[in-house]
Amino acid sequence: MKNKNLEKKKVFSFDKTYSSIISFAQPDKYKSLENISKDHRKIINAGSNLSYSPLGFCEDGISIDLKKFNRIIELDKENKTITVEAGITLIEFLNFTLKHDLWIPQLPGYPSITIGGAVASNSHGKSCGLHGAIRKSIKSILLFHKNHGLIKLSENENKDIFDLTIGGLGLTGSIINVTLNLIEIKSTRFITKIKKVNSIEECQKIISKKGDSYIYSWHRADTIKKFGEGFIFENSIDINNKGQFQKLSENNYSLRPFLFPLWNRYSIKLINKIYQYVNSNKKSVEIEDFLSVIFPFYGKEKYFNFFGQKGFLESQLLIDEIYLQDFINQFKTLLKIYKPIITLLSLKNMSGEHKFLRFEGNKVCLTFDYIKSRSSIRFMYEIDRLCIKYKIIPSIIKDSRLNKETFNKTYIYADEFKEKLYEFDKKRTYQSEVSNRLGL
Ligand SMILES: Cc1cc2nc3c(=O)[nH]c(=O)nc-3n(C[C@H](O)[C@H](O)[C@H](O)COP(=O)(O)OP(=O)(O)OC[C@H]3O[C@@H](n4cnc5c(N)ncnc54)[C@H](O)[C@@H]3O)c2cc1C
Repeated sequence: MKNKNLEKKKVFSFDKTYSSIISFAQPDKYKSLENISKDHRKIINAGSNLSYSPLGFCEDGISIDLKKFNRIIELDKENKTITVEAGITLIEFLNFTLKHDLWIPQLPGYPSITIGGAVASNSHGKSCGLHGAIRKSIKSILLFHKNHGLIKLSENENKDIFDLTIGGLGLTGSIINVTLNLIEIKSTRFITKIKKVNSIEECQKIISKKGDSYIYSWHRADTIKKFGEGFIFENSIDINNKGQFQKLSENNYSLRPFLFPLWNRYSIKLINKIYQYVNSNKKSVEIEDFLSVIFPFYGKEKYFNFFGQKGFLESQLLIDEIYLQDFINQFKTLLKIYKPIITLLSLKNMSGEHKFLRFEGNKVCLTFDYIKSRSSIRFMYEIDRLCIKYKIIPSIIKDSRLNKETFNKTYIYADEFKEKLYEFDKKRTYQSEVSNRLGL
């Protein structure tokens, strides 16, 4: 009886840094979730397994895949709230809410991410300077914990556990369903304005004044000479051009790495030059559809696949605006020494409050992708030191290499999280590679 419904699978983190053989269970009903949980001492929850670092894997325990919990339970149009099961994907969710001209704007950038995964990682979208992280849209949660059973969580009920669960990396139990506050969306078409910039400094000056829009940038970081050259993209909802809502299409795009990597110093330089040329020759205002604005990598999976089986490394950093220029200057100095190959550099504004494990705050959000190599890893350890020096918050979800020392020095509320979690669950039932690595 015990091993019924268990499947052993070889899995990888999205960045391919971690792989292991993991036991999975996929309950389809509450009773089976309860039974599976009873049978195991160490558990972790999993959604679509699209986290860059191994958040949903527990080596000597069980990963509970909650994707069969994917129903829409209730839409309250008058109060603009929706209750959905945690395994529903963003695209399934949006295809329902957008029909009613409603949505949440804090959507992480890939359509097959689940609502449960987004809540547990406190995801943010492109407009995080304006709308913050998904925490802002969560009204209540129904949680199942092996030792506590079903618990309702909200600002008014079990607030402590509610707070621990949002961005709690699945460590407080299995999220069964989530009630979200929706907002109106006047159109699913976007106007995109493109502006050329020559440096990060120039970009910062522009985006810091635009706290109220969907704004992000792309920069070259493949050569020192061209470092910072790029574009600012500003999206706004095209309210004068509503059109008829067209169901968002679920295509079979493949996130499967090529056998051999195609990204290297030369190919990245070439593709960046082409991208720069194409964007320089685009109209400065364009109309874009919902999918390409909200899920920019959808249909462009080759970017990830080109890293090959070895994968890549990503680092996402939240930095106070006042430190940004100093940080960038030191970053460039280190770049000359270590010569890592950077495939992507992007900036956006972020707003919110940093607490517990949450990647949130009134800061600038920097994203870097690296080709995985010894020089990149050595370089990234130097950047860890800058994180400590400049009180930068590195993302746990994106950086699968982040160590306990850097984490403890940059996540100043991590001890409080740990204490409250132990108070709630003395046996520390829910554990993952990441929670073990970071000593949570
Ligand atoms: C192409 C791409 C673009 C991305 N863009 C963004 C972005 O713009 N902004 C952003 O913030 N993130 C972004 N992400 C990261 C992504 O939002 C998170 O990693 C998210 O958690 C992935 O969701 P998932 O369903 O794949 O969950 P998984 O990766 O399977 O799990 C993630 C975490 O959630 C927990 N979890 C999942 N389901 C449940 C549940 N039902 N109950 C309790 N815990 C649960 C797991 O234990 C784990 O800790 C992106 C990822 C990709 C691949």
